[in-house]
Amino acid sequence: MNKRKTILAVGSIAIDTLETPHGNRKDLLGGSATYFSISASLMAPVKLVGVVGNDFPEEGWKLFHSRNINTDNILVENGSTFRWGGRYSNDYSTRDTLFTELGVFENFTPYIQEADRLSPLVFLGNIHPDLQSSVAKLTPSAEYIVTDTMNLWIDLFPEKLKEVLKLSTILLINHEEAEQFTGQSEISDAASELLSAGPEIVVIKKGADGAYLAQGETRHSVPVFPINQVIDPTGAGDSFAGGFMGHLSQTSQPDFLEAVIVGSAMASFCIEGFGVESLVKATQKLLEQRVESIKNSMVEKV
Ligand code: AMP
Repeated sequence: MNKRKTILAVGSIAIDTLETPHGNRKDLLGGSATYFSISASLMAPVKLVGVVGNDFPEEGWKLFHSRNINTDNILVENGSTFRWGGRYSNDYSTRDTLFTELGVFENFTPYIQEADRLSPLVFLGNIHPDLQSSVAKLTPSAEYIVTDTMNLWIDLFPEKLKEVLKLSTILLINHEEAEQFTGQSEISDAASELLSAGPEIVVIKKGADGAYLAQGETRHSVPVFPINQVIDPTGAGDSFAGGFMGHLSQTSQPDFLEAVIVGSAMASFCIEGFGVESLVKATQKLLEQRVESIKNSMVEKV
């Protein structure tokens, strides 16, 4: 078996409160880096970069360690862990942020041990673009720097985000965010404009409508794995990123279409339960089944 490449991942590590049409939950383990690392750790060694407060629950550490997620670069500061609350509309089509309490995140400066700066794969999860840039600059020898973001940063700091894109090899972004950032409503036009901003590859995620891969002039659409009931879509994008990079970790010549399919399959586990409860139940075998099923549905479409 090939040696799997290590992924260094920065993002938020959070305590979430969720209101969904299927019920409410308080104090769930969340955050972009959390969802990402739980997803990617099914396939790859992951090292997390982030910050938590001294109130971070023991179950969180146990979960990370049970999946061999390296936590040496997580700072523990006096104060509160980042907290976020979200409410979904009745058909899950929209989500309102109920609150954002930065806590120890407010003064976060990413810390990365010298040896870990050589990690071949780097994930810049959804956090302030300045923090994403600082991690990218600390890891100049990375083969792939994969970046995610959210509407908040596009609204507040579009210029800073453009700086991040110049340092990124791959951008993962939602369709609405791609439109917001570029002003282009056609997905192919939005992808072309994002490609010209720096990354070699752009993946535009379209929720239940699948994902769109743009690499140079080559374009592909990938459907979702259909699940019976969406319970909680929080973290679906980060779980997608975890699957996508998990594939990159396994090979020296990645197939980016395959990476998008693995990403879609991992996202499908995430949305079946609250927080990370379903994601942690994904196994290699279940993943392979979902990947095959997505591939079959693509063949049927041709
Ligand atoms: P997603 O559903 O992909 O947008 O990711 C949801 C996760 O992002 C939640 O677990 C939140 O804790 C986290 N999150 C929400 N807002 C922010 C923010 N401003 N910065 C960093 N992470 C955030």
